[in-house]
Amino acid sequence: MKVRIDYDLCMGDGNCHRVCPAVFDYDDRNLRGVVKVDVVPPEHEEAVRRAADECAPGAIAVEE
Ligand code: SF4
Repeated sequence: MKVRIDYDLCMGDGNCHRVCPAVFDYDDRNLRGVVKVDVVPPEHEEAVRRAADECAPGAIAVEE
């Protein structure tokens, strides 16, 4: 699984980082979530799907 964030859509609430800190960081300077892995480790895939579901502006794109 791969995941990316569309920065034109991200509203910077940091929820993805709270849901799955192993995959998402929070960029305090630019006030946005960031993906910190190239490939999502299998044990974090479910949390990444949940983060994508919960991302209000739909900024998280998951590629299975
Ligand atoms: S949950 Fe969505 S809107 Fe919030 S920081 Fe992450 S990508 Fe941005």
